[in-house]
Amino acid sequence: MIEYRIRPLRPEAHLFEVTLTVAEPTPEGQAFTLPAWIPGSYMIRDFARHLVHLEASCQGETLPVAKIDKQTWQVPPCDGPVQLHYHVYAWDLSVRGAHLDTTHGYFNGTCVFLAPMGHEDQPCEVEIEAPQGPAYLGWHLATGLPRLTGSELGFGRFRADNYDALIDHPVEMGPFEYAQFEACGVPHWVVMAGRHKTDMARLCRDLKPICEHHIRMFGEPAPMDRYLFMTLVTGNGYGGLEHRNSTSLMCARDDLPKRTDEPGKVRDGYRNYLGLCSHEYFHTWNIKRIKPAAFTPFDLSREVHTELLWAFEGITSYYDDLSLTRTGLIAPQSYLELLGQTLSRVYRGQGRHKQTVTESSFDAWTRFYKQDENAPNAIVSYYTKGSLVALALDLTLRNLTDEKKSLDDLMRLLWARYGQTGEGVPEQGIQPLAEEVAGCDMSDFFEQALYSTEDLPLAELLAERGVELNWRSAAGHGDNGGKPGKDGIPNLGVRLVADPMGAKIVVAFEQGPAMAAGLSAGDVIIAVDGLHATQSNIDNLMANFLPGENVEVHAFRRDELMKFNVTVAPSEPSTAYLTIAKGGLTEKGKAWLHWKGNE
Ligand code: ZN
Repeated sequence: MIEYRIRPLRPEAHLFEVTLTVAEPTPEGQAFTLPAWIPGSYMIRDFARHLVHLEASCQGETLPVAKIDKQTWQVPPCDGPVQLHYHVYAWDLSVRGAHLDTTHGYFNGTCVFLAPMGHEDQPCEVEIEAPQGPAYLGWHLATGLPRLTGSELGFGRFRADNYDALIDHPVEMGPFEYAQFEACGVPHWVVMAGRHKTDMARLCRDLKPICEHHIRMFGEPAPMDRYLFMTLVTGNGYGGLEHRNSTSLMCARDDLPKRTDEPGKVRDGYRNYLGLCSHEYFHTWNIKRIKPAAFTPFDLSREVHTELLWAFEGITSYYDDLSLTRTGLIAPQSYLELLGQTLSRVYRGQGRHKQTVTESSFDAWTRFYKQDENAPNAIVSYYTKGSLVALALDLTLRNLTDEKKSLDDLMRLLWARYGQTGEGVPEQGIQPLAEEVAGCDMSDFFEQALYSTEDLPLAELLAERGVELNWRSAAGHGDNGGKPGKDGIPNLGVRLVADPMGAKIVVAFEQGPAMAAGLSAGDVIIAVDGLHATQSNIDNLMANFLPGENVEVHAFRRDELMKFNVTVAPSEPSTAYLTIAKGGLTEKGKAWLHWKGNE
């Protein structure tokens, strides 16, 4: 038996205390290790660096502990159970880490639970205790871990079938608000931590059809007998991480539905939050159960490479927003606006000509997760480009089968062949299944979409559905695309952030006028044509010039003032927006979006 006990030791010092008991340690001496990364977030994070004060004992006798590498410890052979005792510093406010203060506690098992090596397949039990003191009497506890003792949302004892299961159930504790709804007969809990005034009833009403869409698409019954949406609300947070029967989310306070919101109207921020919930929930099938062969089992000690992240993140990103319109939560035009924003993100970077989605997947660890100022010029995202591949694949499957089959059928086939069997998807495993759905060879499609940097034929595919793909230049640095706008506005070809002195360049796009004139990422623009420039007025200053004219730009590089002669040019027509054609969506278009009403 493997037994863990965890409690917030000193919330004000951000310390969890963990005790781990291994009843039958390895006779040669027991080793313990902590993951270097957490499934779903492909970057080495070295969680072991937050362990402090580690001791070992056997029946009351202290054992010496040797450190083997950055994340592994070893104790000598002993007669009887080995007990480890250690503290974990928890001050990473993200869905990937652990965080503890006097307002709440949160942890992922990857941060706090050492694995007794050689015993990873054994079941384990976890006692989770409340922090001590009257200030914490109102704290609840939420986790997807199967419960052994304690009441619903109370502290208590839990079990996991093995180490892999143990670390797939993040835990939130604190005075959070909660609500419950059912989707296809499965109880779903919504837990909201942090300061907020959310309309919880509205949120449950809106999440229910999204969950039912995903469950019915893959087929009832749902693969989990309960589900937990866990959100930490902050001023400007955003992010999510998927787990087998729960998800950890962070969101901005203003993105949540307010009790004063107009009923039925979905604000842009709330649309983003619903899209995030939809995304993580879709992962319950697509990555948590249908997995790349490279992840079965996970090696959490080092990077594990796969070319398939485009399928797991890209297809999931495609369905997250699509399901919002399929369920009627947002109108088709609102969905098309989101699609236009995705197209703009992909087409604004020259990186899409330099990296394929399969290369992007493989290099996620060192490139997508470690983006620097050159990223838009050098890499393509397997999320955004991957979702466009999914869109093209869906519409192509519909065309090839005379509208009888779609990407939904491919997902169901992946579920039957891999998700339900536990077998991993081979690196080239998607194409044969797509061909099975299509009933014909699709090598040209996959060659272009996955292994080349050619642009996908999306304009033609969308036109058949009654949707027009339009391009214009960006109307300033805050323009995310997706909507019509004024075309031909001069632009420096940079991404800017505010700086106390002016406007700081964070990205200089290849082929942009700023780069051509010698301006670089890191430069702080202080004047355009002799006038003080800031992030908020720079678009207006540039609007005084016509394409072809020269303008003097002053900027600091480090502490050196430099002068640049920029030739004004309209920005590239790389901002997309989609419109419904004059005749409306075609019958095929309505079938694609499950749309029955008037758009
Ligand atoms: Zn995802």
